[in-house]
This record gives sequence, structure tokens and C-alpha cells, in this order.
Amino acid sequence: MKVLYVCTEIFPLLKTGGLGDVSGALPPALRDAGCDVRVLLPGFPAIRDGVGPSHLKQAEPLALPARRGPELSALPAQAPMLRPATLPGSELAAYVLDAPALFNRPGNPYADTQGDNGIRFALLGWAAACLGHGLDAYWQPDIVHCHDWHTGLAPLYLRQMAMPGPPRAASVFTIHNLAYQGIFPRTLFPQLGLPDYLFGIDGIEFWGQVSFMKAGLQAADRITTVSPAYAREIMAAEQGCGLDGLLRARSNVVSGILNGVDYAVWSPSRDDALVHPYDVESLEEKVTAKADLQRKIGLQERPDAMVFGVVSRLTEQKGLHLIEAVADELVRAGAQLAVLGAGDAPLEQAFVRAAAKHPGQIAVQVGYNECLAHGIMAGADVLLVPSRFEPCGLTQLYGLRYGALPLVHRVGGLADTVVDTTPENLEAGTATGFVFDEFSTQGLRAALRRAFDLHALPGAWKKVQRTAMGQRFDWREAAGQYAALYRSLIPQTDRIA
Ligand code: ADP
Repeated sequence: MKVLYVCTEIFPLLKTGGLGDVSGALPPALRDAGCDVRVLLPGFPAIRDGVGPSHLKQAEPLALPARRGPELSALPAQAPMLRPATLPGSELAAYVLDAPALFNRPGNPYADTQGDNGIRFALLGWAAACLGHGLDAYWQPDIVHCHDWHTGLAPLYLRQMAMPGPPRAASVFTIHNLAYQGIFPRTLFPQLGLPDYLFGIDGIEFWGQVSFMKAGLQAADRITTVSPAYAREIMAAEQGCGLDGLLRARSNVVSGILNGVDYAVWSPSRDDALVHPYDVESLEEKVTAKADLQRKIGLQERPDAMVFGVVSRLTEQKGLHLIEAVADELVRAGAQLAVLGAGDAPLEQAFVRAAAKHPGQIAVQVGYNECLAHGIMAGADVLLVPSRFEPCGLTQLYGLRYGALPLVHRVGGLADTVVDTTPENLEAGTATGFVFDEFSTQGLRAALRRAFDLHALPGAWKKVQRTAMGQRFDWREAAGQYAALYRSLIPQTDRIA
């Protein structure tokens, strides 16, 4: 079964969040599950410079056909090409979408610095659809698996494109975060090479604008999202981001497949970022990891202090204003707070102010730091993830593996992966963290109190830590579910004129 995996970021070459981690780990796991996987990526500088030469016998660059695709007059003169390449580490075959005028830009890959994001990501969708229709004479995928709004036009172009030859690939569209939708002004529509009727409520029009997310949801043969709870939540208005009606209408093709963890990257016993590795049998070493973190981030070295960690994009979604609101109380209770994150300026500044007010007890590093992210997982007692909504969330899974007990809002993937320390769960030995229901400082406070209470009982705390560290969210499991989904699609693939 041949699978084209289409995404915009991939660890370790380019990562802005969880999507990068998923794309780094899922394609190799799909290969291990028996799929013949290739990855299609835009030629951002980090991708272009990070991939190796292709190992394939037929490795000629492929020119994209322009006719009936996105209006290439909006593109620079140099024709976009697909260059075969190899991904470092996994050694998977890849196609890099080479269009330097669109992708060879420094900085955040999604920043719309030149107002042409619509065309940039339409071209990615077009490239995926061309491959799905057999552009590469030596390798036509059975499945085109697309990820998030950047790839939303791929399923639609796949359906719309009329190409001679074998039937098109089937499409799977995975929502990693419904809140980011790829909305563009209606003036983009005529440049997309799509028939006029698609600019309507049953097409890709969204309140008078063009929505790439909606295109993916309308046209994909199957829709998945990254946890079963989030799959349910996005079908209701509160978390449906205006697309819950469409998702309900397509509910027979929507499912949730929980993300996994790449334990080759995220395991405290073999983590290159740690000076003092440890594991469930050597938990006493976690105290050393705590001291390492305190020194590194600028907290007072106090082995007795309960350290709360945050590794997160600093956005409204993540609910971190709740933590900022209780920061003084945490310090008064003798705890410390270590924050690593970047994002919304007011939130960054609020944490920086809190650190200035409590030097040595609250430490904040604004920015992106992969190594420190590992250090916080290892050194923290509790990992805070109070997200307002959370499609899956990976950091709480890393927290579990590192014995930094996650304290989370009961929502999305957080609800699916953390077992609350209720008396019953403690008794049954299944508890792995702290879960709160009411999204408010009051709700958070109640969970914090339970964390402090449990921490005062070292034996009980260690028991929960051991249970947490013993959890496995293996990519093998997720890859098996995706492979089964792909298999279910192959006989149903049809050609729609
Ligand atoms: P999201 O994709 O919504 O950002 P996830 O929990 O799914 O959230 O994934 C976040 C990923 O990004 C994790 O690997 C986390 O460690 C990483 N991360 C987030 N912020 C930072 C940061 N400031 N520095 C380093 N890694 C970060």
C-alpha cells in the first residue's frame, strides 16, 4: 500500500509544534506497519538544506503541470518542481516542492510576510494531487494523507483533477488543530483554478472568504483527528470553530486516532539532553535532574521545592493565563515555576514580570529551546497543561514518561491520556496525574491543592510516578489504526469528474 504523507513541518528538520513531532515519527511507524511511505514537503530552507540526495533509481525532478491548477500566473517565472530526496534518520523517500520564490524564506514557515500564503499552500495541495493522480510514473500512491489546513486543497484538487491514467489516490485529511483554518480573502478564489460553483456553502466558501480547512473537510474521503475526545468535541458548536455543522454532516467518515510518542527521542534513560539520565528504577536520580534544571534556568537550588513546569506555545488556547493568575500563590506555598515558551507578547511579558517579582522561584525562558524542553520534563515534579482546548497534546505524554505528573484541564487529548488521582484511581493504582473540569483559576487551584497534598506523601507520589512512567502511547498502535483506515479506503476509491 503506497502512502503519500503531505505535511509542512517534520522533526528534526523543522518544527513549530506537535505537528512536527507527529510527522517525524508517524511516517517511519507507517513503514514499519507495512506501508510504502513517501513524504511531500514544501521547500522551506530548513527542509531543502536538511534532506539528503534521493536513493531512488528514478530520481529525476518532476515538473508540475500548470493547466487547471492554481493560477500559475501568480507565481514567479521559475516553474515549481518536485525534487526527490531522502529524509535524514528515517531514510524515507521524500519529494521537496521546490519553488524558491515561495518557500525560500527565513523565519516561521507560516508567516504570511508577502501576502501569498494562499498561493503557497494551494501549490502544495496541487503538487499532492498531481502525485495522487500518477505524476510520478514510477510511484503512484494509493493514499494521500494530508495534515492540517496547509494541505486542505489536496483532497479537493484530487477530486477535481481530470487526468488520463489509473484512478486517483484516496485521501485522508487529519485535523491537528481546527482553530487554525487557512482563511483567505475571496479574491484568492479565481486564482485557485477551481470551478465557480465551489465558491459556495457546499464548497470552500466560509463567511464570504476561502477556507482551506473547509476544502479538506469537504473533499477528503476520510477525516481523522488526533484524539477520540477531540473528534467528538469538534462536532459541537463550542469547539467546532464554525465547522461543526459540516463535521456532523460528515460524521460517518470522521474518527479519532490518538497520537503517539517517539520514545527514541523522549525517554529519560537515554536522553542526550540530560546530564543525569534516570528511569523508573532509578527515580532518585530525578532529584539530580531537578537540580540541573534549577541551575540551568535560574531557580534557587532547593531539592525540597515542588517544581511546576510549562513547555508550551504561549497562546490563548493553552490556558496559561490561569497559571499566571496563581503564580504568587505557588511561590507562597514554597513551590517553584519553570516556564519555557514563546508566543503572544502580553503572555510572554506577564511571565517575565512574574519571574522578576519572584527571582529564584519563578524562571522564564522566552523562545524555543528543544534541549531545555527535555530538561524541564526531567526536572519538574508537575507538568502544567491547562489548555482551554487540546486536540491531542504531546507535552503531557512526555511529562508522563519523565515522571513529571501532568496537571491538565479535562478536554480533548488531555482527557484521553491522563488518569486523575481520585481516591478510587489511587486505590486501583491507575492514577497518573491531576485533572480539573472547570476552566477557571478556581478549577486549577483545586487540582493544585490535590497535587500539593499528594506530594506531601512521598510513597504515594512515587507510586503515581511509577504508574505514569509505565504508560505507553506507542506510534505502532496509531500507525496500525491508520493502516487499517487506509486499507478500508482502497476499494472505495472513485473518480469524480
Ligand atoms: P501544539 O502542537 O499545540 O503546540 P503539542 O503539545 O501537541 O502542542 O506539541 C508541542 C511540541 O512543541 C512539544 O514537542 C513541545 O515540547 C514543543 N514545544 C512547545 N514550545 C516549545 C518551546 N518554547 N521550546 C521547545 N519546544 C517547545
